[in-house]
Amino acid sequence: MRQVYLDYSATTPVKEDVMKAMIPYFTEMFGNPSSLYTIGAASREAIEKARGQVAKLINAQDKEIFFTSSGTEADNWSVLGIADTLKNKGNHIITTKIEHHAMLHSCEYLEKHGYEVTYLEVEPDGRVNPETLKAAITDRTILISIMFVNNEIGTIQPIKELAAIAKEHGIIFHTDAVQALGNVPIDVKDLGVDLVSLSAHKIYGPKGVGALYIRKGIRLSNYMHGGAQESKKRAGTENLPGIVGFGKAAEIAYEHLDEHIKKVSELRDYFVDQVMSKIENVTMNGSREFRHPGNANLTFEYIEGEAMLLYLDMKGIAVSTGSACSSASLVPSHVLSALNIPVEKIHGSLRFTVGDPTTKEDLDYVVEQLAEVVNKLRNISSVSKTKGW
Ligand SMILES: *Cc1c(COP(=O)(O)O)cnc(C)c1O
Repeated sequence: MRQVYLDYSATTPVKEDVMKAMIPYFTEMFGNPSSLYTIGAASREAIEKARGQVAKLINAQDKEIFFTSSGTEADNWSVLGIADTLKNKGNHIITTKIEHHAMLHSCEYLEKHGYEVTYLEVEPDGRVNPETLKAAITDRTILISIMFVNNEIGTIQPIKELAAIAKEHGIIFHTDAVQALGNVPIDVKDLGVDLVSLSAHKIYGPKGVGALYIRKGIRLSNYMHGGAQESKKRAGTENLPGIVGFGKAAEIAYEHLDEHIKKVSELRDYFVDQVMSKIENVTMNGSREFRHPGNANLTFEYIEGEAMLLYLDMKGIAVSTGSACSSASLVPSHVLSALNIPVEKIHGSLRFTVGDPTTKEDLDYVVEQLAEVVNKLRNISSVSKTKGW
């Protein structure tokens, strides 16, 4: 049976060249980067090379990149770190209702410890209105955190404009750019951001490695305590093969960025056109104009996304309902809820994300199977309605 993976926003396969770069660092190049003898120094050099590769992808200085265990850790570190560093300046944080749980749950944790958090509403397309942000700022605001690209609906935020508002008020600006990395050009200098979260496994690198960009001059309390790694900012023996893999994945993403965006967005547009022309009562969630190139979040009216997902899985097709994190529960997606989409429609929504390995033939197969399952489920649901089940 054909296998089609359309969940590249959940994670990506490690590219061949990335794996090749990593392998020696599991075996012969195993030295502890903190050790002073030769194989330790070789490991240190490998980490510094990777730091340069990641820095280049976002136009940062090498010294501004700090490796972490994940995008989740980078998000936690940003908000908990600033809350601690600036606790005498204020206790108010501004974020949005559509952030990743790594940010939302960190903010909820801070609320239990005396901080106040404003969760901004978004426009129907998922964008933050700059006026809404301005209105939320108080003289106690210490951090504004707004994600670059949403993982469920793919909406791209006007980060430069939002960061400029933060700067006018002397407030630190963080963005979770995990979904943006490798899919949208990122220039931290041009954007004027202070803190940026990144992750390797969304850009064809390994799982369990991420990074935080900390603009030179920004003070941020440590989150992990221990040894002197990462310029004494992030303790713990480095995930050497993981970091090397992240560097290689970043280098590939940098070299092929325009090509990747073009290819993936053309495939996504083809897919959406095909679905809309072959299946009735389908709507797209999020923004058409400001959108992750590979994302199609679609609502199929009158049916359950979970039922579709399971049927597609039987046909070898992997997609997701909302985000991977909420897929284990029936709680409607907090992102689609924030767009004021009615609950019945949220339950009929699926996220398809196209990636580098996707082909047109893959998408033709998915459209064919999708048309069949939608038909089948809509028939059942109309029968169940007339019989009063
Ligand atoms: C995947 C993701 C994260 C978490 O990154 P991990 O490395 O998986 O912990 C954070 N934010 C967004 C937007 C993501 O898509």
